[in-house]
Amino acid sequence: MGTVEEVSGNTKSGLSAKSGVLAKIPAVAHPLAEEPAEIASNINYHVQYNPHFSPFKFEPEQAFYATAESVRNRLIQQWNQTYLHFHKADPKQTYYLSMEYLQGRSLTNAIGNLDSQDAYIDALNKLGHDLEEIVEQEKDAALGNGGLGRLASCFLDSMATLNLPAWGYGLRYRYGLFKQCIGKQGQEEIAEDWLEKFSPWEVIRHDVVFPVRFFGQIEVHASGSRKWVGGEVIQALAYDVPIPGFKTKNTISLRLWEAKAGAEDFNLFQFNDGQYESAAQLHSRAQQICAVLYPGDATEDGKLLRLKQQFFLCSASLQDIIFRFKERKEKGVRQWSEFPNKVAVQLNDTHPTLAIPELMRLLMDDEGLGWDEAWDVTTRTISYTNHTVLPEALEKWSQTVMWKLLPRHMEIIEEIDRRFIAMINSKHPGLESKLSSMCIMDNNPQKPVVRMANLCVVSSHTVNGVAQLHSDILKSELFADYVSVWPTKFQNKTNGITPRRWLRFCSPELSHIITKWLKTDEWATNLDLLADLRQFADSAAFQVEWESAKMANKQRLAQYVQQVTGVSIDPNSLFDIQVKRIHEYKRQLLNILGAVYRYKTLKEMSPEERKRATPRTIMIGGKAFATYTNARRIVKLVNDVGAVVNTDPEVSSYLKVVFVPNYNVSVAEKLIPGSELSQHISTAGMEASGTSNMKFALNGCLIIGTLDGANVEIREEIGEENFFLFGATADEVPRLRKERENGLFKPDPRFEEAKQFIRSGAFGSYDYNPLLESLEGNSGYGRGDYFLVGHDFPSYMDAQARVDEAYKDRKRWIKMSILSTAGSGKFSSDRTISQYAKEIWNIEECRVP
Ligand SMILES: *Cc1c(COP(=O)(O)O)cnc(C)c1O
Repeated sequence: MGTVEEVSGNTKSGLSAKSGVLAKIPAVAHPLAEEPAEIASNINYHVQYNPHFSPFKFEPEQAFYATAESVRNRLIQQWNQTYLHFHKADPKQTYYLSMEYLQGRSLTNAIGNLDSQDAYIDALNKLGHDLEEIVEQEKDAALGNGGLGRLASCFLDSMATLNLPAWGYGLRYRYGLFKQCIGKQGQEEIAEDWLEKFSPWEVIRHDVVFPVRFFGQIEVHASGSRKWVGGEVIQALAYDVPIPGFKTKNTISLRLWEAKAGAEDFNLFQFNDGQYESAAQLHSRAQQICAVLYPGDATEDGKLLRLKQQFFLCSASLQDIIFRFKERKEKGVRQWSEFPNKVAVQLNDTHPTLAIPELMRLLMDDEGLGWDEAWDVTTRTISYTNHTVLPEALEKWSQTVMWKLLPRHMEIIEEIDRRFIAMINSKHPGLESKLSSMCIMDNNPQKPVVRMANLCVVSSHTVNGVAQLHSDILKSELFADYVSVWPTKFQNKTNGITPRRWLRFCSPELSHIITKWLKTDEWATNLDLLADLRQFADSAAFQVEWESAKMANKQRLAQYVQQVTGVSIDPNSLFDIQVKRIHEYKRQLLNILGAVYRYKTLKEMSPEERKRATPRTIMIGGKAFATYTNARRIVKLVNDVGAVVNTDPEVSSYLKVVFVPNYNVSVAEKLIPGSELSQHISTAGMEASGTSNMKFALNGCLIIGTLDGANVEIREEIGEENFFLFGATADEVPRLRKERENGLFKPDPRFEEAKQFIRSGAFGSYDYNPLLESLEGNSGYGRGDYFLVGHDFPSYMDAQARVDEAYKDRKRWIKMSILSTAGSGKFSSDRTISQYAKEIWNIEECRVP
């Protein structure tokens, strides 16, 4: 390696030791380079001719940006080809509308999808860098909260890989999901400035700009047509992110909208007059729209801002979709009745519901269609995915706020509702008594609201749930009344995950062994092939390799945990992980109460007895919504328990409890490959699907879980003997809740002991009473154990005892681990997306030649 002196002779000016290497490698633009030498030259070209830092600086950070830009270069050609190919072939195309995308990092994924891993490793070595090290420089794009956003990102990956004509639309939030730090008081939130420097992946499309109106009034013309005018108009500017498919040229777009005000909105006169703030008022209002993901909505202003965000996404995306529909017409004016043969719009939950009245408005007020024609086009275009049955999570917007912000849309929604009610009255008189809950407008004079889920069900051609159990509950409970009106409208599409990010790239060791034994790497695009691993489940040679790959991942994870928490964990202990958003229904509290009971039991054992215990490392991670007090208390409790347990010399070699901070996609990519047991322990009926259960199972991690969401199907696929099941079933929950509420049950002594231990102050003086009382009674903080933590505690502890026993039998455990991976084929998002394509969108492959 060269030295800095060869370049400048100066090491004090911040020049890096690696800049000497740069001098030896020609800086040549090779946008399509495939050979390591050319890739290295191309990276050097970006360092020198596309500079973002001081000259000759070439630390890992500079290397990351230059490498990412060289990779993006390579993607651009196939990205443009894909655009052109779709344009010429003019197939029916799907547009996925989502307020959230949890993309995580892109470099490893892009290089892996280009199948250029080795070439990039080599090229970076020539430049004195290590690919593994520089990928760590990338900030996660965390434009989402959790499962729903990550699902959208996995779906984009599968759409590209399956060569489907499909795009994603979202918002370009300036600050994504907050960064979580753990301080004395528990969780602290810090704004995550993912664009602080810049994102090397996005491309601004200066020519793609659409006006989006808010407020204003309705003008009625002599002809009877209506027009929305006045108010404030903000521009939506497109930023495109390439989504490469795996080993295909197809590279689709994630189009993220940014809100902007124009130069004409800047009041130069006011500014020169010293009125700086009012001069740039519209600019600052525009900035607010894309400032943060999910602004707090406790205040009226907060609610208004969230609604503005939702409308902004819907309006800009639909204008763009209509523009493209017109642009792709071969000759003459395309019939609007053809629109649904060219366009499918999928609503990811109710957040983009306003796409429905906005499409109606654009068709009627701008394009001159009549109601019936516009309604026919809209309902044949739009479909809706439901993600939750929790009543508090079903969106309901104040009619007052909506009339103010979107007066024309409210007229349209009222008309949709009026026609729906008339249809029920004439065709389904038996449902009259249900109308008050089925209709869209809830006109309760105290608090009139629009029920977004109802608007979606009434206006979509298809409504789907995200796992079989969840879809069944939708049909039998939440949407039961609609089923008799539209018996074929409701479907199931069990969620999936992309096997590229969640196995191939995050666990190269295990992937390598799978490829070696299956004698093919086709499993990465045909995950059902993993079933062939079953034949090797008992093979001693295979088991040895499997175990050593898992061990390598555990060691890597142990290093990471040490680095971020300072806690040293033993790779020979059972790695037991629960990572997901902190929520009472996900029951991290059940996990930590179990850990507390385990700790207490270990304390009471003699040293001899303790030696027979299975050593465990319990890791818990996840963010709590900033205003969700009980979730914050849970974070605090986990940290407090860890602080005591991990420093207790008697037990710390048998039990560690670690809170892993700032759970996000890149942290998940480190945790999941190193996991052996993971907890998916929600109250039955409350988790619509879950997707991290699939990521863990795919990585040979066993699940302890309830019969909830996709757990049910995972257990079916991998075999009930390979799944640690416990807890009440969904149909028992209502009865059990009543029992708990009325105190008609026998308290479990272990559960009482665990709570008492916390109350005794064993983990510090923080006031955990509100949290513990939520598991009891009905007065004060009491919530009658709504989530059935107490009810499920004994069967949970029994299942944990079965885990401890199973882990002692290494061969049995490894076999179960292999069978878990082997049974995960169904949970590829390729399978999910193929089903959407065939059964909802009616779209076909459109492969770039
Ligand atoms: C997969 C994933 C989730 C979803 O986890 P669940 O356990 O299904 O709720 C949330 N956050 C991140 C970062 C993920 O990768």
